Amino acid sequence: MSQYLSMETLNWMLFEVFRLGDLLSAPRFQDHDEPSLRLILDSVKKFADSELYPVFRAMDADPARMVDGQVIVHPAVKIMLERAGELGLVGSTLDYDDGGMQLPVTLYQALNFIADAANNNMTGYTGLTSGAAGLLCSFGSQELKDIYLAKMLSNEWGGTMALTEPQAGSSLSDVVTDAIPRDDGSYSVHGQKIWISGGDHQFAENFIHFTLVRVPGGGPGTKGISLMLIPKFRPENGRLVPNDVSTVGDFQKMGQRGYTTTHLVFGEKDDCRGWLVGTLHRCLEHMFYMMNGARIHVGRHGAAIATAAYYASRQFALERPQGRRLQAGGLKDTSEGQTLIINHPDVRRMLLLQKAIAEGSLALILQASLYADREKTSKGEEAARYHDLLELLTPMAKTYPAEAGRRAVDQGLQVLGGAGFCDEYVLQQYYRDVRIMAIYEGTTGIQSLDLLGRKVFMNKGASLKFLLAEIEATCAAAAEVDELKPYVEQLREQLALNQKVLGHLMPMAAQGEFEKMLSDATLYMEFFSNLVVAWQWLKLGLVASGGGSDFHRAKVHTMKFFFQYELSKNSSLASTLMQPQRLTIVGPVEVLD
Ligand SMILES: Cc1cc2nc3c(=O)[nH]c(=O)nc-3n(C[C@H](O)[C@H](O)[C@H](O)COP(=O)(O)OP(=O)(O)OC[C@H]3O[C@@H](n4cnc5c(N)ncnc54)[C@H](O)[C@@H]3O)c2cc1C
Repeated sequence: MSQYLSMETLNWMLFEVFRLGDLLSAPRFQDHDEPSLRLILDSVKKFADSELYPVFRAMDADPARMVDGQVIVHPAVKIMLERAGELGLVGSTLDYDDGGMQLPVTLYQALNFIADAANNNMTGYTGLTSGAAGLLCSFGSQELKDIYLAKMLSNEWGGTMALTEPQAGSSLSDVVTDAIPRDDGSYSVHGQKIWISGGDHQFAENFIHFTLVRVPGGGPGTKGISLMLIPKFRPENGRLVPNDVSTVGDFQKMGQRGYTTTHLVFGEKDDCRGWLVGTLHRCLEHMFYMMNGARIHVGRHGAAIATAAYYASRQFALERPQGRRLQAGGLKDTSEGQTLIINHPDVRRMLLLQKAIAEGSLALILQASLYADREKTSKGEEAARYHDLLELLTPMAKTYPAEAGRRAVDQGLQVLGGAGFCDEYVLQQYYRDVRIMAIYEGTTGIQSLDLLGRKVFMNKGASLKFLLAEIEATCAAAAEVDELKPYVEQLREQLALNQKVLGHLMPMAAQGEFEKMLSDATLYMEFFSNLVVAWQWLKLGLVASGGGSDFHRAKVHTMKFFFQYELSKNSSLASTLMQPQRLTIVGPVEVLD
């Protein structure tokens, strides 16, 4: 079996860099210790090796599809659903009282990272159910929890997040699916949702759709949106009866073909019932709970695919002889035998780029997850600080692994030359699979608006101040290590540049020029994410510099690569961000003619 990730790197990040062991002293995690967490990680890796990775390509070749009105998915999905709960891949972070295992979110993400890297077509089935169960625990009534939770945690019933409608994708304020109150406390629902992941298949008895709807009286826009639990089959007099939810299509896609994406219609026969979750007309806020979690999951997917692609292209480069090294008499001197392509600087550059992005992305996901755990295990101002840090990191944790991840996979495909373009090799599948990460759960454009338009200035800039303090703490520690001093300096220069960029953009908001301020939000996302990932790399470099093995030296080397080849691009991004003119704003002349 080919390598698709490094457990050594994952364990090192978890236990040495992010010091997961320290978290276990919190009362919430008192039943867990480091050896037990390592055991769970090993069990998931064994499961991924034996059940997930072997069917990764088969799921792509035999995609989810509708057959005679039924969505059919690969038979291996059944095994995943049966085993995922016991392995900690579903609901394991929930409270004991809700049927969870009170595992740290950071561990949960690491477990799912292993599964994603082995087979990213598979993990959405359990990931969405896990997120939906969390939503139910946080905002659902006890009555709803009693009916639905246990069946969801056992994966007998799947969970979905049903937001998108044909006219409401990025703009959820345009949702029109309506829900009219009934006398029995439920609601009568009519509408349709498109592109609903994991929305139907032959291996779950029921599907519980957490759906955005409009209930009369809520007013226009996002403020009037409510959240409904809409089952495919509703319990009635001790049995399950059809709830008038029809699956009318399964979208055929360029990637993640093994993962079903459904088109659902509610209330065709005027017999679809929904139950309110959370507060009427304020439910988009509740849905954001699930969406924020799902955003980190999408980032994790991006990091995992980039990781698996890195190991596949590295393996190819270790086996493929082609050409000669430049110093051995030049390219045309055939007196020397061919060298392996891994020895060509350009191939090495592509591989180092992949590694720097993949491991930097993983660190970012673990950092965000650690803030989620810290928020849960602290109180008052401290908990609020971790909450703000998580909020600020979330759009980047979603977007950087998605955007840089697809660049990494693209370079990985390039490493293979012509073989990269051919079906026989796996790179083309990673290339197709990773592409969706920048689209669903809020496109890169939307995440960037969230970062620059909301998060950076949130709480009068307090969240940003917290993050800058965290970065400065790493800089101060790294400045004690001679080898790291130039990188500390480079990162501090970037922090100053960030302030300069924000100083340029902020007055535009004060003058009401929001479009001008936000027109290049995506460039700011790239700029700030590069800075934040450089911080992660400095952190990795700092811990690795205390090591001394080849493994540690490789980490420091990759850190240097990230600073030299990636962070350096920020100067040009900053220059564009600070240009006085904006060339992308709609004006009197149609420039796209
Ligand atoms: C495979 C797949 C699975 C999915 N799974 C789910 C799911 O489980 N549940 C669910 O509810 N949805 C799901 N979706 C829907 C997904 O979340 C949407 O596709 C996504 O939010 C974008 O919406 P849209 O496709 O309508 O694009 P649009 O919103 O039409 O956007 C098109 C382009 O315009 C840009 N744009 C739009 N508005 C703005 C703006 N205000 N400012 C700047 N740029 C803007 C976007 O960034 C994008 O580049 C899935 C989609 C796919 C393809």
